[in-house]
Amino acid sequence: MRILMISSECAPLAKAGGLGDAVAGLARALGHLGHRVEVLLPAYDCLNLTGLPEPKPLEIHLRVPFAGRAIDCQVLDLSLDGYVCRLIAPRPQDPFFARARIYGEPDDAERFAVFACAAIAYVRALGAGARPDILHCHDWQTGLVLALSREYRQDAPVSQNTGALGKPGMSETSATPIPICYTLHNIGYQGRFRADLLTKLGVQSVPRRLAHWLADHSEAGLINLMKAGIAAADAVNTVSPRYAWEVQYTEQGMGLEAWLRRYAFKFAGILNGIDDSVWDPARDPFIPVHFDLRTLGRKEGNGQALRQRLGLADDPGRPLVAVISRLDWQKGVDLILHGIEYALRAGAQVALLGAALDPEIAGRFALLQARYADSTQVRLVLGHDESLAHLIYAGADLILIPSLYEPCGLTQLIAMRYGTVPIARRVGGLADTIQDANDSIAPRSARTGYLFDEPTPEALEDALGRALWLWREHPREFAQLRCNGMRMDWSWRKPAQRYLELYRYARQTRGCR
Ligand code: ADP
Repeated sequence: MRILMISSECAPLAKAGGLGDAVAGLARALGHLGHRVEVLLPAYDCLNLTGLPEPKPLEIHLRVPFAGRAIDCQVLDLSLDGYVCRLIAPRPQDPFFARARIYGEPDDAERFAVFACAAIAYVRALGAGARPDILHCHDWQTGLVLALSREYRQDAPVSQNTGALGKPGMSETSATPIPICYTLHNIGYQGRFRADLLTKLGVQSVPRRLAHWLADHSEAGLINLMKAGIAAADAVNTVSPRYAWEVQYTEQGMGLEAWLRRYAFKFAGILNGIDDSVWDPARDPFIPVHFDLRTLGRKEGNGQALRQRLGLADDPGRPLVAVISRLDWQKGVDLILHGIEYALRAGAQVALLGAALDPEIAGRFALLQARYADSTQVRLVLGHDESLAHLIYAGADLILIPSLYEPCGLTQLIAMRYGTVPIARRVGGLADTIQDANDSIAPRSARTGYLFDEPTPEALEDALGRALWLWREHPREFAQLRCNGMRMDWSWRKPAQRYLELYRYARQTRGCR
């Protein structure tokens, strides 16, 4: 199958969080299954090209209408392991992606709208022989790809002067449109913007159906790109079965509950995987002592190295509790802070690695960091550090993940692979992938961590307390938990098959064979 993914992130080139890992992991897994996979990505100036060749320009030139003129874009090509990346590069006088970061700019709406229109133009520019069998769009940044290509012919000739999209309503008369899947990685970010965004893209009168799809659920005058993408897609999924249920039936749908229930017939939950060649304690170049299930005892060597690197007391008699997280309200900031204090009171050591964009959150963690600057029992490292993250996964005993909501979560999957036991809230993908150690209904070999329900300090203390008690009082049972987690298969192999099923469903819906 020829698969074209359209995404604002793809690790390691451009990664702000789990989206980048998921797109790259799925693309590689599908490529290794023999499918031809391309990932379309903005050519950010902050692309991480370490160890990769310079991207090569292709003979494909795109024109995107914007603010009454046409933005010219070049397409660059880069071969990666199992798939190719195509980068959309506007000319230097249009620096939509030259901002030294992926998100957080005041004109993010315009930046990703231009990217979406360039993606539509790219599909049109491909010859019949290179036409994708499926388009796979990710998150709000690509919502317009879905919404606009359902209203405007995907294969209409592009106006040479303006790159304009053509006349609305032509999609129904088009040759079989390319089926589109849409993956929602986090419904907390829906792409809600002022409606004049469409005027800037040269859309003069919005057809009624499109206007209905785009109308925000709660605020008049706003358009909602994710909401429109959901309606326009042939198949929609989110990144865990439990989160798929939560967003339809609880406030986790963030206003889209009823909309998602309406489209439940084409909505699925597919767990993310992890790249088990990158996250492999037997081969990880970032950790000093390699280990696997048979040599689990050697993990302690990484604990020692971690304590040394962070300036913690060399005290293997204390359990080491870790946090590796974006420091965002979603991740349960108050519970993380409470968990640190509780773990210290209970005689554990603590290592936190986290980056905060929100100044209030950054300030709170900076205060705690300063308070414990001289402590040899706790270290807070504020910022992004890939190599330290690997060492923490390898060296810690427990990892705390008290998220308020969690679409899938990769942290717990990686931790389990490294024999580090997760303590997490029973939400989203955390609930789908962790089995509580004290769940007497689950087979013993399936129990992998500790879960708590309420987002309260008491509930967290109960779960963390149970974990610390087992670590101290029943080390063999605790080692069993570690092994159970290490035995789980969190690779992309199974999820890739589920996505292929979703692609087939989308193609059947569109009448493709
Ligand atoms: P989200 O996508 O919501 O941030 P996930 O659990 O899906 O959460 O993915 C988080 C990924 O980012 C994991 O691979 C984790 O190891 C990594 N990560 C989070 N914070 C940091 C950090 N400060 N430094 C290095 N890696 C981090």
